[in-house]
Amino acid sequence: MSSHRSVILPGSTLGVLGSGQLGRMFTIAARRLGYRVHIFSPDLDTPAGQVADREFSAAYEDLDQVRAFAQSVDVVTFEFENVPSETSRACAEWAPVRPDGSVLHTTQQRLREKTFLQSRGFPVTSFRRILSEHDLFAAAQELNLPGILKTTHFGYDGKGQRRVRSLEEIPEAFATLNGSEGIFEAYVDFEKEISVIAARTAAGAFQAFPLFENVHSNHILDVTFAPACLSETLATEAVELARGILEALEVVGLLTVELFVTRDGRLLVNELAPRTHNSGHLTLDACETCQFEQQVRAVCGLPLGSTRLVSPAAMVNLLGDLWDKGVPKWVAALDDPQVKLHLYGKDEARIGRKMGHLNGRGDTVEQAVHRVRSARERLTQD
Ligand code: AMP
Repeated sequence: MSSHRSVILPGSTLGVLGSGQLGRMFTIAARRLGYRVHIFSPDLDTPAGQVADREFSAAYEDLDQVRAFAQSVDVVTFEFENVPSETSRACAEWAPVRPDGSVLHTTQQRLREKTFLQSRGFPVTSFRRILSEHDLFAAAQELNLPGILKTTHFGYDGKGQRRVRSLEEIPEAFATLNGSEGIFEAYVDFEKEISVIAARTAAGAFQAFPLFENVHSNHILDVTFAPACLSETLATEAVELARGILEALEVVGLLTVELFVTRDGRLLVNELAPRTHNSGHLTLDACETCQFEQQVRAVCGLPLGSTRLVSPAAMVNLLGDLWDKGVPKWVAALDDPQVKLHLYGKDEARIGRKMGHLNGRGDTVEQAVHRVRSARERLTQD
């Protein structure tokens, strides 16, 4: 086993499980700090692999390859949480895994995650485990309708979830689970959705980014802006909630807490992600330290960077849909010199696939949002 030193200095090699855009931007930040980066995923020529020093391509279940990867690095972190527990355990034989595999285990399954949060007194909407149609009927009657039925595994961007409006819809809704375990959640009549991205080091240092306000379209994040429009009391509460969760999970690295702000002014945790997050992409151009550099610092045991927001800022996602009528008009979007383009090196532009994003700053949040939305519109204008 390699020595589990607490500080991993520049010049060392960082290992990342997962190879998407989060891994790509992590790699760029790590290399700027003088680290080498090895990526592990089942694919080749990936967004992260394109910019990494080395790309391991094998199934997450191929534990010989996983061990070879872990042996080649000084620390392992994640950009993707749906990695089997055996994979992180095999890595841990050779290098520290940050956050620890147990954090992954808790957060990669909705039911486990919500049960953990509830048992520790963190606020979540009411929920029930669903194994049969009868369970769903009982849950709908106890928690009232509408509600949301989700699969417990591998859900992101609203995949594997549907709203249940009436008792008549139950058989059809249950059928969509396709035999897998489900979770039924009371519907939250939220005013807005926000996220807190926070870092914690092995020594217990904690640092949160400014609060992000998120607007979804078809269950996929569409626009994020910061600072979120929230009372000071709620903003403090959100950060303290995040601090409590990172401490309860003993996170070393980054964790994102997605929150609902209800119409009667309460916070409810929707979901946790033990990593950087789409809502934090504006930190690349608007915070003194971006979320990816902060992940590097946290997992390496370096002092955390300042998360100060330099000015109001916004981000819009660029989905594959924008390629519908050909290559988007990059020059037109960049006509505004304050708009920043980030593309992830993906060849195939499928509907709903995250291909890149635009960041922009402004004197006000409204101006920043207007700036990035207009730039995105110019991408497809004749
Ligand atoms: P998730 O995949 O659980 O993050 O859900 C994706 C989106 O669906 C969330 O960002 C919300 O907009 C919506 N959603 C999820 N759960 C609920 C709920 N219990 N009540 C209302 N909306 C929800």
